[in-house]
Amino acid sequence: MQAWCADEHEPMMLVSGKGCTLTDQHGKEYLDGNSSIWTNIHGHNHPTITTAIRDQVDRVAHTSFLGFTHEPAIQLGKQLVDLLPGSALSRVFFSDNGSTAIECAMRMALQFWKQNDQPQRDTILAFDHAYHGDTLGAASVGGIPIFKGSGNDFGYRVQRVANFDSLDSLTLEVTSRLAAVIIEPLIQGSAGMRLWPKGMLTALSAWCRERDIFLILDEVMTGFGRTGTMFACQHEDVIPDFLCLAKGITGGYLPLAATLTTERVFKGFLGPGRAFYYGHSYTANQLGCAAALGSLQVFREERVMESLPSKITLFQSLLESLRELPQVKDIRQCGLIAGVEIGPYAPESLMGVKVCLAARRHGLLTRPVVDTIVLMPPLAISDSEQRQMIQALRLAIEEICPLPH
Ligand SMILES: *Cc1c(COP(=O)(O)O)cnc(C)c1O
Repeated sequence: MQAWCADEHEPMMLVSGKGCTLTDQHGKEYLDGNSSIWTNIHGHNHPTITTAIRDQVDRVAHTSFLGFTHEPAIQLGKQLVDLLPGSALSRVFFSDNGSTAIECAMRMALQFWKQNDQPQRDTILAFDHAYHGDTLGAASVGGIPIFKGSGNDFGYRVQRVANFDSLDSLTLEVTSRLAAVIIEPLIQGSAGMRLWPKGMLTALSAWCRERDIFLILDEVMTGFGRTGTMFACQHEDVIPDFLCLAKGITGGYLPLAATLTTERVFKGFLGPGRAFYYGHSYTANQLGCAAALGSLQVFREERVMESLPSKITLFQSLLESLRELPQVKDIRQCGLIAGVEIGPYAPESLMGVKVCLAARRHGLLTRPVVDTIVLMPPLAISDSEQRQMIQALRLAIEEICPLPH
């Protein structure tokens, strides 16, 4: 805060965007190397999405979803269900952001067991280094201490484990109390792009099924094509009980989220007096739904998924060229997501921050997680923009990072 408030600090203001380029208050242009904090999918100011929003705002911007419904939400619900093969996740609950999508999934899971004869299932299992959002419930399953600020456990009973193998050491007493397991599939984002071993998701899904424990997949970051498939779970043919979507759902234009679940969970809430007590004032905002429909239209019309394999191949080979740098310790990549880890350096040297500030001077915007520089461009990035992005990062690392001895 102090550094931000310092007299000499000039905050950067972003005033416009087109495609993968953002422009600041001085007219300088930058590549949006982290997709405006992992949200943007098809680039900025995409005519299909802006038109969808404009057409909707001419009708109505927002109406209550409490006891009402509307066409954009109905259409979006249908289209989201159809995105997964077999439409196994047939029910959609809207909310406002990634954290609330997680809150919904956890509360549905806990309430489901409570009202369906297994009230002892009161615990959520979460992994070390996980990040699931900043609201109290979502933060309570988070595994990164610094993000928790003042306290640790905010109310939910949480069982934390390091990895899949550590599930073996859980006693029956513990597993019989599990309502759900929550995980970021394939890759933990805020932890610095940590990859799970191949096959882990399949194994975890089987482990949950054997014990009738719900599997909650947090695809807030990985959803909507980032990993090369529409959803990360498709890499391992896993269908969870809850799929949490936000960030990219509107193409990165407006805040909106959805928690998808099964017919079984839906039915568990039927019956006299039963209700899922959860809702926000802006739930299923009409403009947000219109933007999301616009984004899905772009996916279809521009065959975005088909364009990804060659982009990912180029991304991999460009990242590979960064490995030559002695300052680069590790590169972790999944689809169009990458973490370039430099160092090791002392945390107080803030090397990651310094590299990102230097990259800015070379026309690239991104953020570090400590000493891991995140590269997560919009899926719309062109080949020449990819080269530009990697070149800017290379120059920044060479400029800032001392050679290790
Ligand atoms: C960003 C993120 C969240 C939280 O989403 P918000 O919209 O910022 O609340 C949750 N989970 C993951 C994996 C995320 O990357």
